[in-house]
Amino acid sequence: MTTQFTDLGLIEPLLRALAAENYTTPTPIQAQAIPLLLQGRDLLGIAQTGTGKTAAFTLPMLQRLAAEKIQAAPKTARALILAPTRELAVQIADSIRAYGAHLNLRHTVILGGVGQSPQVKAMARGVDILVATPGRLLDLVNQKHVNLTGTGVLVLDEADRMLDMGFIRDVRRIVAHLPRKRQSLLFSATMPADVAKLAQDMLIEPVRVEVTPQATTVEKVSQSVYFIEAAGKQSLLTSLLRDEALTKVIVFTRTKHRANRVAEQLSKSGLPADAIHGNKSQSARQNALERFKSGSARVLVATDIAARGIDVDGISHVINFELPNEPESYVHRIGRTARAGAGGVAIAFCDPTERPYLKSIEKLIRVQLTVAGAPPREAAAEHGDSRPIRQALQERPATGNAPRGNREAPRPDGARQADSDRAPSRRRRRPRRNPMQKAA
Ligand code: AMP
Repeated sequence: MTTQFTDLGLIEPLLRALAAENYTTPTPIQAQAIPLLLQGRDLLGIAQTGTGKTAAFTLPMLQRLAAEKIQAAPKTARALILAPTRELAVQIADSIRAYGAHLNLRHTVILGGVGQSPQVKAMARGVDILVATPGRLLDLVNQKHVNLTGTGVLVLDEADRMLDMGFIRDVRRIVAHLPRKRQSLLFSATMPADVAKLAQDMLIEPVRVEVTPQATTVEKVSQSVYFIEAAGKQSLLTSLLRDEALTKVIVFTRTKHRANRVAEQLSKSGLPADAIHGNKSQSARQNALERFKSGSARVLVATDIAARGIDVDGISHVINFELPNEPESYVHRIGRTARAGAGGVAIAFCDPTERPYLKSIEKLIRVQLTVAGAPPREAAAEHGDSRPIRQALQERPATGNAPRGNREAPRPDGARQADSDRAPSRRRRRPRRNPMQKAA
């Protein structure tokens, strides 16, 4: 029988809040982690965004804090959640607000890029839960506006991103301010050595919960690739976006400059789009995100860092205008669609210089992307003909593992063929061999 939220030992005010969010059943990480966290165990969670990890740590935290009936002292936080990006911090705070709607707990957010005085003011009385990005929090701790010596719960979210973004030292400095006796949780999608070391130093006899290996998210997303010259990408994008089945679309670029250019060009073509990246002010990023969430802008153009942790439900399509040079980023990108069990569509544009990136991506995800047979007619017309794409198709070296005999254009409406219709060779996963396992 499937586990229900009522089976996990959660109190009624939380169950009511979950019902209001229309969550019917816990995700695997929630089902596994919540009962253990309610007991006060430390936890190492190997999970990426989209698995429901935020609720997995927020719900037991709220329940335990509510049960203790303690008031936070001035400048203190009873629980601390560290997140690598401002967007993720804000989204975690949104979740706390939603799940804690019927509990009388106070929370606040501390992040960089905005004035510090409102944050200092919010901390003056003390809070039950503090969500923060590391740099600004460390500043405020050093200035004695925040006191973490009594903080009994610590969550480190997206630890591998903290590492990528150079925050690990700040994180360690912050952790040093917390008492040794506390409950600690660390979440990470991947486990590079530095994160494993941090986990070892930070957690005491943790339970390890691992969900959604990368391939699972990857499998839920219908993926295809257009081989196209760089110069043809903008008109292909415009042309794809004319299809209103693409209801909520994130377009990824590698650079901030390109994100701006793509958004400007789309807007000129009558397709309102915002760009978010690290050079935009916090309020510009937040406004763009709100417009996208509310549906007043259908398209958001983003760089990888800016999109980190963006939690917007119902993203119908992810378009990789430029392929990332780190294959893991591709998995993060396409994970924006296919949230919490839903399917999604990812379309990649690959120019001849990006072939090596595509190769690394396909190697990592162990899936070969479906090749889009031809660009939509409009894009081809704008380019005179579709020769570059055909050339690219012919140039593409055949691989021994997945012959591409039967090319099928992706359906931007997201409709997929029934599995039985699909040639297995095109989306075949190669079984991973466990070197520790003896052959039977
Ligand atoms: P997260 O992995 O925490 O970023 O969550 C991914 C998305 O799944 C968020 O949009 C949540 O609102 C949603 N979500 C989390 N738990 C559930 C659940 N049990 N049922 C349905 N949606 C959920």
